[in-house]
Amino acid sequence: MSVLRHDWKRAEVEALFSLSFNDLLFKAQTVHRQHFDPNQVQVSTLCSIKTGACPEDCAYCPQSARYDTGLEREKLMAVEKVVAEARAAKASGATRFCMGAAWRSPKDRDMGYVVDMVKQVKSLGMETCMTLGMLDTSQANALAEAGLDYYNHNLDTSPEYYGDIITTRTYQDRLDTLANVRDAGMKVCCGGIVGMGEEQGDRVGLLMQLANLSQHPESVPINMLVRVQGTPLENEADLDPFEFIRTIAVARILMPESYVRLSAGREEMNDQMQALAFLAGANSIFYGEKLLTTPNPEANKDMQLFKRLGIKPEQRASAQDELDASATSGGVEHFSPEAKTETQFYDAAV
Ligand code: SF4
Repeated sequence: MSVLRHDWKRAEVEALFSLSFNDLLFKAQTVHRQHFDPNQVQVSTLCSIKTGACPEDCAYCPQSARYDTGLEREKLMAVEKVVAEARAAKASGATRFCMGAAWRSPKDRDMGYVVDMVKQVKSLGMETCMTLGMLDTSQANALAEAGLDYYNHNLDTSPEYYGDIITTRTYQDRLDTLANVRDAGMKVCCGGIVGMGEEQGDRVGLLMQLANLSQHPESVPINMLVRVQGTPLENEADLDPFEFIRTIAVARILMPESYVRLSAGREEMNDQMQALAFLAGANSIFYGEKLLTTPNPEANKDMQLFKRLGIKPEQRASAQDELDASATSGGVEHFSPEAKTETQFYDAAV
């Protein structure tokens, strides 16, 4: 059984990236099997509860008010509407409902609403996750007291490359929010984005930051950049798909007990690449037609791929039966098309 380490050295992580592809995948899959059922993938659903008009300048993000991406802005969604979408997601088999708002950080006037959302979604019997930007201690405590299970706040990239991507908040700001979330007793969802023009050394740096936190994030989303027209990264060059798989594999080895999530960018991956990602140790996906604001493979296509690969969604037995039936019939009629499930916690990469 691999042990949990928080003292990874750069040379060790570089050596993992330098392994032959087959050796790396074998190692990652071996670690994966020591800690997880290799044929189960956790499924989350994401709902954008407040879209666009964000004051931050994250270079990849269509929700920044600084870039003209044609994204339609939406105000904070009513609590009842969020709960209705959570109910639909639950009926579709999602076990965790993630709520994302494009904010620098929640304002005092917002806190009552989001606390109410957490309480009501939680009362449906679902795990809850939010991504609302930076949190101070009192905000983190208020969300924890409401019952919020996970908070998403990504590091995005290495400390060295970070300034090329975001200037409106510092790396330390992000680490401070993560510490506030931990201190409040919530689980952490934290990862990054690759394919933003960074070097492999930056992918090494990002994964080292995550793995050397005093406690590994329970959930580690690895996003592939979705190039959105109007953002500064709209013309970024393609990342070698095998390098993306390598990043997943190294994340799995460094953080053996964390759920490694295949997140934004999955729409542009073919079935073979997604299968390789699962082999490399990815064991969580967002399920739905879009991730916050970027396209996500249609839900039934995901279920068909799971079936072809012999993968079962990790969830409650009753929902599992429904999903099996749906995959067999080729439809997911009970999946709410209007549930803006998606995710990407990278808009919310906040
Ligand atoms: S990633 Fe988050 S913080 Fe950054 S611009 Fe987008 S919504 Fe705002």
